[in-house]
Amino acid sequence: MIYKRSSALFNDAKKYIPGGVNSPVRAFKAVGGDPIFVKEAKGAYLYDEDGNTLIDYIASWGPLILGHAYEPVINAIVAKAKKGTSFGMPTEIETDLAKLAVSMVPNIDKIRFVNSGTEACMSAVRLARGYTGKDKIIKFAGCYHGHSDSFLIQAGSGAVTFGSPNSPGVTQGTAKDTLLANYNDLASVKALTGANAGEIAAIIIEPIAGNMGCIIPTSEFITGLRELCTKEGILLIFDEVMTGFRLGTGGAQEALGIDADIVTFGKVIGGGLPVGAFAARNEIMSYLAPDGPVYQAGTLSGNPLAMSAGLAMLTQLNNNPEVFKSLAEKTEYLHNGFNTVLKTKDIPYQINRYGSMISVHFTDTPVVDFATSAKGNNDTFKKYFHGMLEQGIYLPPSAFESYFLNDALSYEDLDKTIEAIDKVF
Ligand code: PMP
Repeated sequence: MIYKRSSALFNDAKKYIPGGVNSPVRAFKAVGGDPIFVKEAKGAYLYDEDGNTLIDYIASWGPLILGHAYEPVINAIVAKAKKGTSFGMPTEIETDLAKLAVSMVPNIDKIRFVNSGTEACMSAVRLARGYTGKDKIIKFAGCYHGHSDSFLIQAGSGAVTFGSPNSPGVTQGTAKDTLLANYNDLASVKALTGANAGEIAAIIIEPIAGNMGCIIPTSEFITGLRELCTKEGILLIFDEVMTGFRLGTGGAQEALGIDADIVTFGKVIGGGLPVGAFAARNEIMSYLAPDGPVYQAGTLSGNPLAMSAGLAMLTQLNNNPEVFKSLAEKTEYLHNGFNTVLKTKDIPYQINRYGSMISVHFTDTPVVDFATSAKGNNDTFKKYFHGMLEQGIYLPPSAFESYFLNDALSYEDLDKTIEAIDKVF
C-alpha cells in the first residue's frame, strides 16, 4: 500500500502540532513509520488520504461500537446542530441521556456529564476524597485513567508506550498520594491498605484492563477488592471508560457481578463525540456542587450535540442488547482463528479476550498484569502490526492496547484478518 499523502500531511502537521498528533498513541512511534491520515470512514472501514481502504480494529479507541458514521447517531447530531451548538444553560436532552444511562447501569442513582474519560476519572477521585475526607488513592501499574496528574504514576496505554509512565511535570506532592499496586495481586493491595490505614479514599481500577493489552481480573482478586474496600471504608472506583456500554448494557459491574461505589464512563457513552461521565449512588453524588461542597464544572459539559450522539447510541444499544452477544461472538471467532494460525508457527504468543476486547501478546508466559504484559516481544509486534497494515488491517499501533471490535465487521472481514496474520508469520 502507498501512504505518500499521509506522510506528506504528517510532515506538515509536525511543523505546527507537537509530534504531528493531538494524542500521542496516534503517532506510530512504538511501531515505526508514519501514521495514516484518515479521510473518512463508514461501518467497519477506514478510507485514508491515499485512497486505501482499511478494516478498522480500533473504532476511535472504542466509542464506535456500531461502526463508523452510524446513521441514527449522525442524524441525531445533524438535527441537533441546526438548533444551536451550545448554550451554557440546562437542556432536556441532558436528563434524557442521564435517565437512560441510570436505567441501564446497575447501582447508580445519578450521573454527571463531562467532556472526556480523563475528566471523569479526575472528578471521581476528587469526589471520593471529598466524600471520605481522605487523601490517598490506590491505582494499579499499567492501568490508564487519563492524563490527569494523579494517574500518571506507572500509567499504561500511550504513557508506557512512549516511556513516560511517570510523567515529568507531576509534582512529588501529587505523586505521593497515588499508591501503586499490582493487578491481580490482592496481597499488594492489602500491603498498601495496611501501611496506610485510615488514609485511603479510593481504589481506582479498570475492572477489565485494556491499557496494558486486555487483562482479565481473577474472580478472587476482584471480589477481594470489593470486600477490602467495604471493610476499610474505601470507595471502589470502576473506570468503565472502555468497558461501559461495551461489555453489555450494565458494563463490567454487571459482567463481573461486582458493585462499584463510583463508576466512570467515556467512549461509547458519547457515540463518538467528546463525552465522559461519572456516576454513583445518591449518598455519594450529593457531595457534588451545587448540592454539596466538592466542586466540578464545565463550560461545554452536557453539550447538546454530544448528548444527542450519546442518546442515539445508548438508545440503539438498549433496544438491541443482542449486539453485545454478536460482538462477543465475532471476537471469539477472531480469537479462535488467530489461535488456529499462530499455533502452527514457531512464535510464543498469548491471546487475552473478554467480550469484545482482545489483545495478542508475543510472549510465552500468561499475561495477567503489567509486568507480564511488558514481556511481550516488541520486534515481533512491529512485524505483526506492519504486516497486517500492508494487507489493509488497522490494529492499535502499540502492544499495550486492546483492540475494539465494532458490530459493522462482517465474518468476511474477520476471515480476511485471520488470513492476513497467517501471511505475516
Ligand atoms: N480510562 C480508561 C480506562 C481509558 O481507556 C481512557 C482512554 N483510553 C481514559 C480513562 C481517558 O479517557 P480520555 O482519553 O477520553 O480522556
